[in-house]
Amino acid sequence: MKNDIQNARIDLAACLRWAARLGYQQGVCNHFSLLLPGSDSLFLVNPEGLFWSEVRASDLLVCDLDGHIVEGQGTVEITAFCLHAPIHRHSKKARAVLHCHTPYTTALCLIENAKVEPVNVAGFQFYGHIAYDEDCQGGALSPAEGDREAAILGDKNVLMMRNHGPIVIGPTVAAAFDRLYYLEEVCQRQLLAMSSHRPLKQVAPAIAQGLADEVALFETYSEKHLAAIKRVLDREAPDYAR
Ligand SMILES: [Zn+2]
Repeated sequence: MKNDIQNARIDLAACLRWAARLGYQQGVCNHFSLLLPGSDSLFLVNPEGLFWSEVRASDLLVCDLDGHIVEGQGTVEITAFCLHAPIHRHSKKARAVLHCHTPYTTALCLIENAKVEPVNVAGFQFYGHIAYDEDCQGGALSPAEGDREAAILGDKNVLMMRNHGPIVIGPTVAAAFDRLYYLEEVCQRQLLAMSSHRPLKQVAPAIAQGLADEVALFETYSEKHLAAIKRVLDREAPDYAR
């Protein structure tokens, strides 16, 4: 179990480092959280005030779902408790909860009624798996707001919060990070296509559904994606794992 927890720390730190390289962080804002292996009530999260580009495995804090830090040095920004803890509490699928203001996914969240359309084969995995919160309440500064977002998320994998940005969940941090990455890529290409002001070419729902049902395929791929990320970090920034 000790090795499992250390591996979880390393995987979460790797995803934070890689997200920083991809330009996903806004200032020192936002969180990636991961339930500790073997626990449904304790989670790892990045501490307040650090760039993701500097986070090490040992910097991650262990918190409970009621807003207490139970292990580690530092503080946790209030939205981690108000947004992440309720989603860990309510969604059985949410071992990992990633929230950031990725540029293109957030841009799509800023357009009235915009959805991730089933027009790009790389995005068919999201077909039927995205919930939309159309009723922005401002920042998540109370657990009740997190409860509201968790109810809208339901059994989906992604919550697109209008006027705000995405939350992506998964059974592992690898699965959640792979979804976050592809969501951003797909939103970028959709917005590029929309900028042509010509109609998006829809596909038959059954075509998109075929890939949306291949959950195990994408989870296997996500493990390879994270392994590749860690190989590069091991060469270029090995302190992430300390
Ligand atoms: Zn946010």
